[in-house]
Amino acid sequence: METSSPSNLKSINASASNEKMASNNSSSTLISSDKLSKNTKTLRRNRPGTKFENAYQYPHISLEELDSAFALQEYLQSLIRTDKENIDALVQLPSGQDRESWQYEHLRQLCLELTFLVVQLSTECTRETCPEMKADEWMYLCAMHQAPIGCCAIDYIVHTLDAATTLLNSHRYFPSRISIPPSSLKHYQQIARRLYRIFAHTYFHHREIFESFEASVKEIPLCVPL
Ligand SMILES: [Zn+2]
Ligand SMILES: [Zn+2]
Repeated sequence: METSSPSNLKSINASASNEKMASNNSSSTLISSDKLSKNTKTLRRNRPGTKFENAYQYPHISLEELDSAFALQEYLQSLIRTDKENIDALVQLPSGQDRESWQYEHLRQLCLELTFLVVQLSTECTRETCPEMKADEWMYLCAMHQAPIGCCAIDYIVHTLDAATTLLNSHRYFPSRISIPPSSLKHYQQIARRLYRIFAHTYFHHREIFESFEASVKEIPLCVPL
């Protein structure tokens, strides 16, 4: 879906009329397609009212083309939309980028996409069905309280996801998305380990939801810009 912002359209029209004036003495009044492509910019945004199946219909963009404070995140989301199953491409560190910042973007993306799984889980993972946070025979205490307590599974999941999101958005631990303080790297493993338990609980105790979630991520774009 190639679209242009009004300002870009104005510039195309302006250059068209300039070209027309300039070419009045020649025989051509057409803008070359090359010139048009230079002036036409793809609007990488879902317009209000866009249907979900029509969302994100813009082409993959290279990191060099992105001029944004959130370039690395946008690049990762573009990769996911292009081919969610190409794990090698998704984890490949982009040339010239900081490894810790790239891992940081992956953790943020994981939190974003897990919210979709939690929505599905909340229909059948309740205090009654899952009074403890278990994955097969393992039982986990919720560490998001002053002292770890036995939250039921859905509470554990929501508390853990909230805490991970809050930590990743913490200006104190992650003041910049370009450079990660070495002292904050210790949080990566802890966040990943706890988030992984959400998948494990779903796999062992809500297999149908796990499988439908797996199927849905193959069909719909799960990445949502912040
Ligand atoms: Zn459950
Ligand atoms: Zn809790």
